[in-house]
Amino acid sequence: MLYCIMQKLLVQACCGPCACAPMPINDYCTMFFYNGDNMDTRNEYDARFYTLQTVADTKGIGIVADYYTGPKEFDTCQDCIRYRLRKCAEAVKRNDFDCFTTTLTVSPHKDTVMVNRIGREVAVEYGIPFLEFDLKKNNGFQASVQKSKELGLYRQKYCGCAKSVRQ
Ligand code: SF4
Repeated sequence: MLYCIMQKLLVQACCGPCACAPMPINDYCTMFFYNGDNMDTRNEYDARFYTLQTVADTKGIGIVADYYTGPKEFDTCQDCIRYRLRKCAEAVKRNDFDCFTTTLTVSPHKDTVMVNRIGREVAVEYGIPFLEFDLKKNNGFQASVQKSKELGLYRQKYCGCAKSVRQ
């Protein structure tokens, strides 16, 4: 299904490769990058921001971003994801967007049901719509890999935090 959204949509994305996932929406959106507190190093933060900038430039869309503040530990991945989606919801309100979503479900390492549940809970908390997708569907992950190779993007081998490096 194609969502023809003429509303202003904010899309949380942790990197360019995830943002290459084919999404059933048009390109009338803005990317939201909030990795300043979960990347293990400044270099990693910069590398991922650069890949997202490349994808955004290709699509001709903008990015709302934070800045690097240094890593802090989250007890669980659910806490970390909830924190990022809350920040996205706050940016929706602050910048007058209408709704939000995330590219996190494209990763084979992320539980789609869990991500969408957190998105729904954050939506209720902030009183704004969350668009649910399962971007792994229809070979979405493979398509994102292919597209990111075409664009020559850096593809990280870990999720981002120091814990994920060890894992
Ligand atoms: S592994 Fe990824 S989702 Fe989990 S806490 Fe680390 S950065 Fe966050």
